[in-house]
Amino acid sequence: MAVMDDLTNKIFNNLLAMEYVETKNTHAIRECKCLLCGKFTNVTASNLKSGNTKSCASCGQKVTTPEMEKDIVSMLIEGEKISNIAKQFNIDRSVVYRIKKEALS
Ligand SMILES: [Zn+2]
Repeated sequence: MAVMDDLTNKIFNNLLAMEYVETKNTHAIRECKCLLCGKFTNVTASNLKSGNTKSCASCGQKVTTPEMEKDIVSMLIEGEKISNIAKQFNIDRSVVYRIKKEALS
């Protein structure tokens, strides 16, 4: 059973949850607006809430390039500020935090 909790107009990472679209395989799907590029994308409520999906697919791909993550990790090791890294790569600071957490765990 899908739970119809109200996510409308709430922000999850880089996604603004909008209208409920449909329920597929018990997953409630929301139309979301990507705050990085302004595109609309459909995301399941559980991926939104868990943070598995943080932006639209193209922005998600953009921020998870292995080469880019390697550069970000070496900058973190050199002691570069997270805000500077985010600015340089044109990504959200939350992405840098995630990479940092993954690299240091
Ligand atoms: Zn996007």
